[in-house]
Amino acid sequence: MSRVYNFSAGPAVLPEDVLREMAQEMMDYRGCGMSVMEMSHRSKEFETILEQAKADLRELLGIPENYEVLFIQGGAHLQFAMVPMNLMKNRVADYIVTGQWAKKALSEAKLYGTANKIATSEDETFSYIPDCSDLPISENADYVHICENNTIYGTKFHTLPNTKGKPLVADVSSCFLSEPMDVSRYGLIYGGVQKNIGPAGMAIVIIRKDLISEETLEGTPTYLKYKIHADAGSLYNTPNCYCIYACGKVFEWLKRMGGLSAMKKINEEKAAVLYDFLDHSKLFHGTVRKEDRSLMNVPFVTGSKELDGRFVEEAKLAGLQNLKGHRSVGGMRASIYNAMPIQGVKALVAFMEKFEKENG
Ligand SMILES: *Cc1c(COP(=O)(O)O)cnc(C)c1O
Repeated sequence: MSRVYNFSAGPAVLPEDVLREMAQEMMDYRGCGMSVMEMSHRSKEFETILEQAKADLRELLGIPENYEVLFIQGGAHLQFAMVPMNLMKNRVADYIVTGQWAKKALSEAKLYGTANKIATSEDETFSYIPDCSDLPISENADYVHICENNTIYGTKFHTLPNTKGKPLVADVSSCFLSEPMDVSRYGLIYGGVQKNIGPAGMAIVIIRKDLISEETLEGTPTYLKYKIHADAGSLYNTPNCYCIYACGKVFEWLKRMGGLSAMKKINEEKAAVLYDFLDHSKLFHGTVRKEDRSLMNVPFVTGSKELDGRFVEEAKLAGLQNLKGHRSVGGMRASIYNAMPIQGVKALVAFMEKFEKENG
């Protein structure tokens, strides 16, 4: 067996401990004679897996009692639609557009009502987070939406916007559980799990209970109502059982690592190794305003398309994989999620140093 350092933006690296535990339990989950993939979602065993996962997530994030935790299939994209379908009572919402994902969320919301772009950083290829301290929030906005960590561009909101009392809705797909969050500042938090938590195929939604209601936009399919999932405890239909099990393993791993404050420290150390190098390199440059940098996704360029391409190819041969930047920006991107060990980041920097010497 040989594992590479996988810098993929998602689906992405998972903790080796977690993969090993899942392999061990594959044929016979804790003496029940079958895999978690094969058991009823109504079984005692699975019920325990689900409840433990929810409890561990609540503990990790310090989720207050007045919030519901939901596991819903369909990834983050489905949330781009579920959010307006469930929350747009006045059919008005405000969106802050800091990248492609935020843009997609905005255009989906436009299918259901008036979705306003109240701020954007598109003028400089989304390389910064706009000042959101005094935005023209619509008087009757049902919510204000942000993409908290911009996976493609490598920016993060380090200060939440002033929503002037409107519920804040955040897509946290690529920064989920990378550091502590004050959940009480949000109306709804959602994220696809395949970036920082588990395998693809599911979103986690954390929603303030007063925002869950029977009333949704006309024509909303039953499955797309938060209330249905909340009332059924994420067991309205057959959930993505194996994904929930894997996420639960990652929650346990995070607890063993010391929780989210400890994780934040590790992530800061890891990101500093790469950013410090980028700040001093003559060949490689970061593409993002320093104060808005993400701890999770680090885009960088050489300034030459040809060198960028060669770097990605040669890095791959050296066991450093999936470093090609998103097709909309080019260059390189290293995603250094929770499960990427610091050794991986150091190996990347050592390789960059070598490449710089050979090509400088
Ligand atoms: C990856 C990503 C998405 C899309 O996730 P899917 O689960 O594929 O729908 C949405 N938002 C952000 C911030 C992402 O990083």
